[in-house]
Amino acid sequence: MAIGAKRSNDLKALNKYLSYGFIENLDTVQHIPIGKFWGIKLSVTPITWLSPIVFFALGAILGIFEPRMNLIQTLYHIGVFVIGVEISTLIHALGHILGGKLVRSPMDELLLTATRGVNIYHGDQEVIPGFVHVGRAMGGHILNLLTFSVVMQLLHYNGAGFRSDVLAAIASTSLFMGAGGFLPLPSVDGQVIWREVFHWLALRWRENAQRE
Ligand SMILES: [Zn+2]
Repeated sequence: MAIGAKRSNDLKALNKYLSYGFIENLDTVQHIPIGKFWGIKLSVTPITWLSPIVFFALGAILGIFEPRMNLIQTLYHIGVFVIGVEISTLIHALGHILGGKLVRSPMDELLLTATRGVNIYHGDQEVIPGFVHVGRAMGGHILNLLTFSVVMQLLHYNGAGFRSDVLAAIASTSLFMGAGGFLPLPSVDGQVIWREVFHWLALRWRENAQRE
């Protein structure tokens, strides 16, 4: 049975979330608590454990573009890619937590799904000032980009081998998440950042227009 197929609009909701890169229906999926981190509730879905398999499949699809490798090399590369994705995802979530702490409005719950982390904020988010939204949304990317630059330095001191391969995978996935998230796409943090920037610009423009 499809997740949450009980309600008539749920397939539509699932499709919406699928297009955002989730494979769970976030409206209906169960939140299983797994503990707390720095006062923030951590939870998983019933299929979060599928995450490495999902990214293994994605890695296999991406691997089609490198046909020179034999089976063992291919499996090794996909495995390293999966480790990189999982670590970069956790770094991204930690960045959101740090960003939220800095603007004194941390998330209430971090839901780790099979593909992405979801930052959950309780209460009316409309009344929250713009810089708080931006701080919370930027944290993930900034920490990913910082990770990218630190790991690139570390790679200078590491020879070839498993550790370097994992570091390189963390660097590339963190760069992807850090830079890609600034795109003004729905459900991506960039949407929040640009929305607040344009809102601020519009306010300034209106203020200036009133003064003249
Ligand atoms: Zn994010």
